[in-house]
Order: sequence, then C-alpha cells, then structure tokens
Amino acid sequence: MISRKNTRQIKVRGVPIGGGAPVVIQSMTNTDTCDTQATLAQIERLTGAGCRIVRVAIPDEEAVQAFKKIRRQTNVPLVADIHFQYRLAIAAIEAGADKVRINPGNIGSEERIKKVVDAAKSARIPIRIGVNSGSLEKPLLDKYGSAAPRALLESGLAAIALLKSYGFDEVIVSIKASDVVTTIDACRMLAEHSNVPQHIGITESGTVRSGSIRSAVGIGVLLAEGIGDTIRVSLAGDPVEEIHAAKEILKALGLMSGPVVIACPTCGRTQIDVAKLAEKVEKMVVRMKTPLRIAVMGCVVNGPGEAADADIGIAGGKGEGLLIVKGQAVKKVKEKEMLKTLKKYIEEMTKEKL
Ligand code: SF4
Repeated sequence: MISRKNTRQIKVRGVPIGGGAPVVIQSMTNTDTCDTQATLAQIERLTGAGCRIVRVAIPDEEAVQAFKKIRRQTNVPLVADIHFQYRLAIAAIEAGADKVRINPGNIGSEERIKKVVDAAKSARIPIRIGVNSGSLEKPLLDKYGSAAPRALLESGLAAIALLKSYGFDEVIVSIKASDVVTTIDACRMLAEHSNVPQHIGITESGTVRSGSIRSAVGIGVLLAEGIGDTIRVSLAGDPVEEIHAAKEILKALGLMSGPVVIACPTCGRTQIDVAKLAEKVEKMVVRMKTPLRIAVMGCVVNGPGEAADADIGIAGGKGEGLLIVKGQAVKKVKEKEMLKTLKKYIEEMTKEKL
C-alpha cells in the first residue's frame, strides 16, 4: 500500500489535484490548436480513454481565438500551455483557461510573471510552474554547470516563492528532464522541500514503445514513494496512447482500479495465438471500469493454474481452449470463439457493456 505525500490541494475546473485526491491523468493535444474541430475531436478521444485534464498549446494570438471557441464547446478542464509570451497567458486566462502552464525559464521578468499571477488570481484558477531541463534559467545553468537536479529544484522553489510573495498559493509544480534519474532526484528533493502538489512525468521520453517504458520507470518510482498528484506520460505519437500507458502505471501500483489483462509470454508449447487474442481483449476492455483480472494463457501445462488466479481466463489447447471462471473450468471454446465468449462472460460478470 502506497502512502501518498500530503500535498496542498488545488482544483482545475472542479478536478482536485493533491491533498490525497486520486492521481489525475492528463495529456496534451498535438493537433493544430487553430483547427478547432480536430482539437475538439482529440479532446473527446482523450477523455473517452480516461484523460481528466487536457492541455492545449497556445503559440500565438490566433491560437487564443481558437482556444476561446474550443472552451465554449467542451466542459473538459483545459490547460493553456504558454511559452515566452506572458500576454498570451493573460489572453488565455481571459479566454477561459482552467489553468495556465508557464515556464519560469522563458516567461520573462518578475513584473511579467506578476501580471499573469494577477490575471489567474482574478479568474480564480491555478498556475502550473513547469520547470524543464531544456529551458532552465541561465544563471542556474552557470551556477550548477548543467541542468542538474539541484538546479531544477532551485528554479522550482524560486518560482514558488515568487508567486507566494504575490499572495498566490494556487500552484502546482512540475520538474521534468528527459533523463529519468535526474527527474526522480529533482522531484524527490522538491517533495522534501515543499508541500506544493506535483505534476510528474518524463519530458520528451520517446516513442510509444520506449517512452512508455521510460515514463513507467520514472513516474512509477516516484508514485511508489508517494510523490506525484497528477501524471502525464509524454509520448511521440497519438496522445491517446499516453492515457493507456498512464492507466497501466496507476493500476500496476494499485492507485487506480480497472481491468488488468495478463498473458503468458508464449513458448514452444503455445497452441493458440496468445498475443493476438490478448491484444484484442485489451482493446475490448479499454473503457471498462470494474476491476477484473483477465488471463490469456497459451497451453494446458501452466495455463489453467495461472488462469485460475484470475477472475476469468482462457487456457489454450489445440485449436480450442478452456474457459476458466473464478478458478472453475467452465467449458471448452473453439479458438475463433474465444474473444466472443470472453466478452459475453465479462459483460455478465461486470454488468458493463463492452
Ligand atoms: S502458459 Fe504454456 S504456452 Fe504459455 S508460456 Fe507457460 S508453458 Fe508456455
């Protein structure tokens, strides 16, 4: 059982982050923000997959106008992602952003930051301070010689203190590096120094395959230590893949309930197409909420034993397999009927429509 660090709670359009609230999954659209229909469609797909908060890039004034339209057409909590131009942050807040993400390394002078804070204060929305190894303030780079964990920490703490000096506490911080160990060290130190909620993730982590693994290691280590209130798995690919990865990370740590599909690694004894069936089962249950362990096993040697530990499972034989429900062998099923049979039984067990 993971004991979570008690951070201060903020809310993003009613979604609580920190203070013991369940870890929130978020992502970011990768459509052109000005293509409002495509962006809205992606926001829908993301939330349909389990994303609770969506960030949208605001690179220019045209994007602010598009953001305003998007805001009117969805109730999903939206975060405006701003780099360099504090005026865009203020405009995005006026356009209805539920949170703004600014980077202390590139937003400019304290005076400009204060203007953003004043706008967030009057709109009663939080600010995410996004410290990133790729855009650390030059004096810190000079002081530490690189974007070392201490340099990242110092940047985050200075920004927290600055916003506090303006009487602003509705803050969440992310410290991200593309190096997993640097990120872990920096986030650990931040957790020791501050009770501000943390948004965690590995920045520019890579492709769906490598980035999911690197993110799972970095985010997983931190969450296992009770650190992290909201997560984003950053992947070069369809952002919906980020949600699937995030859910698996949370389920693996017992921080989220839902279906878990286990499958044997296959070997020379395998008699059914385990990988294909397991993949189809994973897709079939992707929106399911009920916690259920579903096993897809390749043979009758270890299969029945492993499947018996699951709520429902298939142990493959030659062209057919054994359906096992709650440890009991129920019936033989032909290979081509397996998916359909699992669907029928899972729907009956969970009362959910797949
Ligand atoms: S369950 Fe059977 S097929 Fe799968 S890895 Fe184990 S022995 Fe091989």
